[in-house]
Amino acid sequence: MNISKSKTLFSQAQHSIPGGVNSPVRAFKAVGGDPLFIKRADGAYLYDEDDNAFIELINSWGPMILGHNHPEIKEAIIKAMENGTSFGAPTAREVHIAERIVQMVPSIEKVRMVNSGTEATMSAVRLARGYTGRDKFVKFEGNYHGHGDAFLIAAGSGAITMGAPNSPGVTTGTAKDTLLAPYNDLEAVKQLAEANKGEIAAIILEPVPGNMGLVLPKEGFLEGLRSLCDKEGILLIFDEVMTGFRLAAGGAQERFGVIPDLTTMGKIIGGGMPVGAYGGKKEIMDYVSPVGPVYQAGTLSGNPIAMAAGMAMLDHLNDHPEVYEQLETIGTRLVTGVKKSLEKLGLSYTMTHLGSMYSLFFTDQEVIDFETAKSSNTELFGKYFQAMLKRGVYLPPSQFESLFLSTALKDKEINHILQANEESLKEILSL
Ligand SMILES: *Cc1c(COP(=O)(O)O)cnc(C)c1O
Repeated sequence: MNISKSKTLFSQAQHSIPGGVNSPVRAFKAVGGDPLFIKRADGAYLYDEDDNAFIELINSWGPMILGHNHPEIKEAIIKAMENGTSFGAPTAREVHIAERIVQMVPSIEKVRMVNSGTEATMSAVRLARGYTGRDKFVKFEGNYHGHGDAFLIAAGSGAITMGAPNSPGVTTGTAKDTLLAPYNDLEAVKQLAEANKGEIAAIILEPVPGNMGLVLPKEGFLEGLRSLCDKEGILLIFDEVMTGFRLAAGGAQERFGVIPDLTTMGKIIGGGMPVGAYGGKKEIMDYVSPVGPVYQAGTLSGNPIAMAAGMAMLDHLNDHPEVYEQLETIGTRLVTGVKKSLEKLGLSYTMTHLGSMYSLFFTDQEVIDFETAKSSNTELFGKYFQAMLKRGVYLPPSQFESLFLSTALKDKEINHILQANEESLKEILSL
């Protein structure tokens, strides 16, 4: 595969951009090799600067659930652009998209638009703290909530000790208010709640984590957190930046029937434009400025072009429930096919799958949390990634990311992926 233009751009990029990229995972550090510079995308395919074509299994880390360049979204963006790109004042579109979100997402009665998932989670935690008058919150190891200081926290030594900064620049002052628990461990959360009684504002989690590879919540885990929160006056925040509008039209909360107090969203909600949102019960959301005391603002929040793209996306998902059935079918076909090859070749593996998300872990352990996810052979994953790329399939460049499927994957692409998978597995096993 000739990637000379990408190579040249990457070395040029090092001079003016830290590490040559605007978000670290894009640098391919976890899998080796040079990142591809993408020139364009269409439907199920990405094209790099050297005009190599790749079948998409990242889809911009989730947003492009209908594939690239979907005609309805493209048209909405072009039409909106003709009337100006930013006003910094209220628009009819913001009312419409808010009403659409309220209608689609079970827990949301009011919603505020922001510009990224990171902003959504930072704002939701601030709101939870303001509303409850408490400082601490609980997050889970291996769950990602964007790059806000309060979330860049690693577990301390004991199960119920306070967190420690996970990045230089995050202060110990910030870290002391973030409590960490292993995912799927309800007992650990109960212990934290006991040891910090009356001090915890919120528990935030990915209801179905996709940021340590895909991990499924154990039966009763989400329900258990819901009852604990009710009992202790803690707000339950579902970070559905990844799962929202993906696992169902109403996200993981609809799929699992567990209703959080606040929900954060991003990715799909912008139809490929930079958008995030947080919403929930009226009474809590009315604590946000200007009606309430908790401050949160944004110059480009509710941007007309971004809202037009998001609106077209949400309208499509709302009006076409068959999208979710299609995604289930595509997911099941791929996972079944990949497993068949793995069995045939006798490789030890764990696969996790829900709807249009799945992960292949190179481990024989059941993956239920960050510890077990880390038991994967990441070196083998790196080889598998490169072998797939060479065969025209673009996987997330890390073991600890979920794959994201789109409705643009048809028979031809599914067959190509399964063929590439079997050949790649043989290659890494040197058969
Ligand atoms: C991607 C992601 C974020 C961060 O969103 P950005 O738009 O990248 O800031 C937060 N939470 C979850 C669960 C995510 O997957």
